[in-house]
Amino acid sequence: MPTPSASRRRFLGTATLGLAAAPTILATAIAQEAPVVPRGVSGRPMPKLEGEWPDPTARRIGFAVVGLGQFALNQILPAFAEARHARLVALVSGNRPKAEDVADRYGVDRKAIYDYGVFDHIRDNPEIDVVYVILPNALHAEFSVRASKAGKHVLCEKPMANTPEDCERMIASAREADRKLMVAYRAHFEPHNAKAVALARAGELGTIRLVTSDHHRHIDPAVPADQWRLVKALSGGGSLVDIGIYSLQAARYMTGEEPVAVAAQISTPKDDPRFREVEDLVSFQLRFPSGAQAHLSSSYTAQRAKRIQAFGTKAHAVLDPGTEYQGNRLAVVGEDGRREVDVDPLNQFAATLDHMAECVRTGRTPLLPGEEGLRDVRLIKAIYAAAEAGRWLDLKPDGSLAG
Ligand code: NDP
Repeated sequence: MPTPSASRRRFLGTATLGLAAAPTILATAIAQEAPVVPRGVSGRPMPKLEGEWPDPTARRIGFAVVGLGQFALNQILPAFAEARHARLVALVSGNRPKAEDVADRYGVDRKAIYDYGVFDHIRDNPEIDVVYVILPNALHAEFSVRASKAGKHVLCEKPMANTPEDCERMIASAREADRKLMVAYRAHFEPHNAKAVALARAGELGTIRLVTSDHHRHIDPAVPADQWRLVKALSGGGSLVDIGIYSLQAARYMTGEEPVAVAAQISTPKDDPRFREVEDLVSFQLRFPSGAQAHLSSSYTAQRAKRIQAFGTKAHAVLDPGTEYQGNRLAVVGEDGRREVDVDPLNQFAATLDHMAECVRTGRTPLLPGEEGLRDVRLIKAIYAAAEAGRWLDLKPDGSLAG
């Protein structure tokens, strides 16, 4: 076996032959001491990392997930593996065997499983910093308030609650407990949406004149996750509160403005038993102070769509799809044609968890605090009222109806 220095000499000799046509590289190679490369199994220096380091596990902010349903199990729990500042430490569920199975798979201590009755015992678990509420909409307020009262920060799914009054209770409770409250509007952390907003704010689209956004899917009463959505007392409404809220959000974040007037039309098949309590199709329009408008829609019967378009005086941005869990796309269409925009991949769910964790750690106000969720719930109420009135209704700056 050659000595290290012999092998180094041989390496340089070989390198000399190959580098005859590259004197600069050769000079550099000779000037530097060639590295000693171990020939057997051996540890090596820390590699250069391509992304941000995750926090050590013990230092990550601990999350309790409340409600182990379709969204929690398929999107949120797997996303903890990609989070850098957040970790899953507790589960809250009404189904103990399911919760134990989930706990074992995700490395959560079975002692950190709670049911809804003993939920308040989370107060005694110092590992839990944040409670992530992923329950049917009508239950968001109760569990957010109980979490704040137990001294925990709250991340709550959309819509924040079914009434503005419930949103206000959630905000007041978090404030009294000096805890953070954020609505988990994932689109703000989705890289294509974030890029489209950045282009709009940078003036790349010119002045935004119109936003259109359409969110549609088929609702299926055979699917457990769709069953409570058809019960108004649990969902608070139909397609508007469930997926139309993405269209509403898109209009607000693409224009960067708050609407001053709203009009709406609702169409629900009368003979379809799915829609005994909640509406199907909602078309709604918003007017903004700049004169920009939004034409928005949602339904539970039209073929799947998750589309956002912002039409500016210079170009328009097309997010199609825009709010899928994966596979979103952004194109900019201008004088010179259509250009697909590449963005760095980012798991929007992990990014949401990490943002919340960083806010807890640093004391920063979340990007999407309770007031943001409250505004949407007020606007949703105004949209229903405008449909009922059959005419344009004016809005106050806080999203509630004027007059
Ligand atoms: P699921 O019905 O699949 O999950 C809800 C879970 O809540 C249930 O599995 C159950 O968990 C618990 N629960 C407690 N009481 C009830 C009750 N009376 N009826 C039904 N469930 C109950 O719904 P989703 O996961 O689709 O939605 C949950 C929330 O997440 C909603 O607010 C929804 O708007 C939001 N969501 C957000 C999405 C996003 O992209 N941001 C996407 C999908 C949903 P357990 O069995 O553990 O007790």
